[in-house]
Amino acid sequence: MASLSLSISPNSDRLIDGIFVFPRRQLLRRVATISNPSGCHLLTKRSLSSSAEKNRRNKVAAIRMSSTSPASHSYDVVVVGAGIIGLSIARQLLISSDLSVAVVDAAVPCSGATGAGQGYIWMVHKVPGSEKWDLAMRSRQLWEKFARDLKLQGLDPQEVLGWKKTGSLLVGKTSDDMAVLKEKVDQLSKAGLKAEFLSSLDLKKVEPLVVVGEEGGAAFLPNDYQLDARRSVAYIEKENRKYAKEGRYREYYNQPVTGWLRSGNGEVEAVQTPEYSLYSKKAIVISTGCWTGSLMQELIRDSDIKLKIPVKPRKGHLLVIENFSSFKLNHGLMEVGYIGHQDTINNLDSESEIASISMTATMDTLGNLVLGSSRQFVGFNTEINEQIINKIWERAREFFPSLKDLSLKDLEKNREVRVGLRPYMPGGKPMIGPVPGLSNVFLAAGHEGEGLTLALGTAEMVGDMVLGNPNKLDNAPYALHGYCS
Ligand SMILES: Cc1cc2nc3c(=O)[nH]c(=O)nc-3n(C[C@H](O)[C@H](O)[C@H](O)COP(=O)(O)OP(=O)(O)OC[C@H]3O[C@@H](n4cnc5c(N)ncnc54)[C@H](O)[C@@H]3O)c2cc1C
Repeated sequence: MASLSLSISPNSDRLIDGIFVFPRRQLLRRVATISNPSGCHLLTKRSLSSSAEKNRRNKVAAIRMSSTSPASHSYDVVVVGAGIIGLSIARQLLISSDLSVAVVDAAVPCSGATGAGQGYIWMVHKVPGSEKWDLAMRSRQLWEKFARDLKLQGLDPQEVLGWKKTGSLLVGKTSDDMAVLKEKVDQLSKAGLKAEFLSSLDLKKVEPLVVVGEEGGAAFLPNDYQLDARRSVAYIEKENRKYAKEGRYREYYNQPVTGWLRSGNGEVEAVQTPEYSLYSKKAIVISTGCWTGSLMQELIRDSDIKLKIPVKPRKGHLLVIENFSSFKLNHGLMEVGYIGHQDTINNLDSESEIASISMTATMDTLGNLVLGSSRQFVGFNTEINEQIINKIWERAREFFPSLKDLSLKDLEKNREVRVGLRPYMPGGKPMIGPVPGLSNVFLAAGHEGEGLTLALGTAEMVGDMVLGNPNKLDNAPYALHGYCS
């Protein structure tokens, strides 16, 4: 049975279609309190100067000391974090049960890694038989179903989600790369996917503008997809909000979770934001991406729970050239070196400035050329680094020599840079499951560079755990036991 109860808020918030609209004073305050409780991260595009940081800390302290008691609201499930993972989990619970769901975010959807995502839902760089393979395959199936269902409703998935079956090309230039690509094609074919090896000449026929040299070639998966992360999130939100009419859904944006309330028997009863205590009758799901480690540390600070979540931010830049008319791409492309960069366990200290750059190129349904991408451990810094943008551009030109006729300066007006913090996990797989010692608290975080791809499978897994349904996939690889100390 869905259950939701609301208390009258002492604030002058307005409830429109299930979304709490906060008065302007709160939004302004939010800008200063955008970090998590430990104050060690920022979601803004530019980092704050030290005086601004001091000012921010004072304001956070002022909020904590505020004497106005937060308004209490109650739901079956409270989801913390409104990135692709949190919103997909909310969607899953709404469509597969009659539970009421609240989504809380420190900022707004797409302010985390999700807003920077390039949007490929590809299998070409994945490893059949690896721990994540089944989750990736299931997730892809669920995305396909999502797109099919939209069509059945008379909607165009291309318009709604930016969904396109572009196929993917993993390209390489050297004979060593060819050995990797041939093996990849072999493995992917044995796993049941349509995969082809393309020589340099074959590649020219399907993607004329990419140049890999005579020795080069590609692994080609014609049935891979891409989507537009921002449009997909907007649609999922819109769908979720339909449940607000029947009192089953609410969003609390610009509300950082700063603490939680535990009952006498140790269960977590509610999460707290500066304005609200959000009670949960069944489950609390923490899906706060790269902020999950610091948030959990803060939440369990005064408890006997010993948990160390090793997720850390891995910064990524994307260069978007809007309305790009110089050429069209038929497929999504990625250089084979990307696999190594993605999997590299960082052996440098976490403040290292060294960035790895590998070429990824996609063209979205609006005709924007999206070039990636960088990977870098620089803490929670989200400032744009022009040197990295130049390197991404240079790397793209090595594969697309026709870009050498264009200068980045001339494209300034059409340029957008996306920066996001991927939630990196040292073992390369996300955490999905209950927090040991807290049976009603679930974590779903640490999807690094695959969160868009894995979102729907993750959401289904969490939904089944919360609802007590039989597992569709083995969830043991994602359990949190290994992180208890
Ligand atoms: C450049 C780049 C390109 C990428 N390309 C792809 C791609 O093509 N395909 C793919 O599959 N993946 C891609 N990814 C990875 C993907 O974007 C991420 O894995 C995914 O977005 C992670 O989603 P999330 O919901 O876990 O985290 P996020 O999107 O970061 O969301 C976390 C949310 O938690 C909120 N939050 C934080 N602290 C609190 C708090 N205290 N209280 C309340 N809320 C809080 C934040 O405001 C944020 O909205 C890319 C990432 C980057 C950076």
